[in-house]
Amino acid sequence: MSQNQELPYRFVIGLEVHVQLLTQTKLFCGCSTQFGQPANSATCPVCLGMPGVLPVMNRKAVELGVMAALALNCEIPSRTKWDRKNYYYPDLPKGYQISQYDMPLSQDGWLEIEVGETKKRIGIIRAHLEEDAGKSMHDESGRGGDTRVDLNRAGTPLLEIVSKPDLTSPEEARAYLEELRLLLRTIGASDCEMQEGSLRCDANVNVHIPLPEGGHAATPIVEIKNLNSFRAVERSVRYEAQRQYEQYRKDGKKFGEVAKATAGWDDERGVTVVQRRKEEAADYRYFPEPDLGEVVVDKAMQDQARVAMGELPATARVRLQETFSLSPYDSRVITAQGRPFIRYFEDLAKGSGDSKAASNWTTNAVMAWMNEHHKEIGDFPIRPDRLAGLIQEIQKTGLNMQRAREVFAHMLEQGTTAQDACKTLGFVVMGDPGQIAEIVRRAIAANPKAVADFKKGKVKAADSIKGFVMRETKGMARTEMVQEVVMAELEAAPDPS
Ligand SMILES: [Zn+2]
Repeated sequence: MSQNQELPYRFVIGLEVHVQLLTQTKLFCGCSTQFGQPANSATCPVCLGMPGVLPVMNRKAVELGVMAALALNCEIPSRTKWDRKNYYYPDLPKGYQISQYDMPLSQDGWLEIEVGETKKRIGIIRAHLEEDAGKSMHDESGRGGDTRVDLNRAGTPLLEIVSKPDLTSPEEARAYLEELRLLLRTIGASDCEMQEGSLRCDANVNVHIPLPEGGHAATPIVEIKNLNSFRAVERSVRYEAQRQYEQYRKDGKKFGEVAKATAGWDDERGVTVVQRRKEEAADYRYFPEPDLGEVVVDKAMQDQARVAMGELPATARVRLQETFSLSPYDSRVITAQGRPFIRYFEDLAKGSGDSKAASNWTTNAVMAWMNEHHKEIGDFPIRPDRLAGLIQEIQKTGLNMQRAREVFAHMLEQGTTAQDACKTLGFVVMGDPGQIAEIVRRAIAANPKAVADFKKGKVKAADSIKGFVMRETKGMARTEMVQEVVMAELEAAPDPS
């Protein structure tokens, strides 16, 4: 954040996000929405835009849209309608896209984000439904090959979510997109797979530059299209803002007369490439879709959506902090993994009676296993009650962390309980003070220098005695007990100097 404070301008960022709704079939026909089918195989006369066909609305898409809009705290008018957005493009065979213009599904919502310790509400202007276009595949080899078109995506249901320009740093833009993805995945409205195109982001960027006479100059807005990673959003916004600022410094006031433009993001070179003047709404000649009626979103439909959405991530974070005394950071890490992971943590915390240990084990060892194996929590081989057994074993015996990790690894491999794993590995923790005192006395006899140093007031000198004991016991002595016995024996030992 510090780098923003030094900048001579303020970021003004709004994001337009398109997410594919999790339906089996397209928005106005029965074609499959499954990813990765052979090109043009998931098509029919409706989504190919043949003359004489009629669209039939997919109710599931509207239900998912309503659920997402409610989760984004949007108002949902009781009536909404479809409009044609007219433009010509090879991947749009109808010559228009069915979208929503003046009566969107929802409007005026917000999403709360957290950057560092700060919470901030980002306004949502609207979230509306529309169909996707197809995909043009250009020959990028430079050998002048043909451009091909795949219409499998044409007619796929999308929810377009438009934020207010409330984002004031590249980090906030990224946090907003991450929170939006977590929210939509959690409620099951979209899988938000960026590589598969089911979450796409355009960023509207400009900067405000404070003027010496007061007030500020605003650079024209540039819309960076088709950002396909969180990193690309953060980097492109930072680059574009700096570019606009430098352009402003060069051109001065006349810069303000340049029209709005769109830009692409070249991820390899790390630069934005300004492409063309941005279309205004009037360019699209919107008019009501004559083949579809108005959609009534009644109270029953909203109630149903509220029940279906379940607990939202923001609510889960607060609940984990309150119920399990988790830090805001730990609650964020656990919640970001999704509902099954939250449940695993809860079962572990309740089973072990130690929520701090449960949080440490899930966010470290368990997540490390998931990342290493590219698997979900549902695939994790140790059930929460078994892992709770390990936490309890540690509490009971004082098993140190290094040994505990070996037990964990053994449980993973062999599928045993913590107790059995300890037995097999020969980890029987020494808890007899007499036995430990005997080893401590041997250590003292072997280290007169450490004893002399200790007597001179160097408390640190006790560490070498403790190290000796841990080596002798192969790390199986209870750490607190060793600490206690070593101090007592050192106090009692005669000064050898
Ligand atoms: Zn179709």
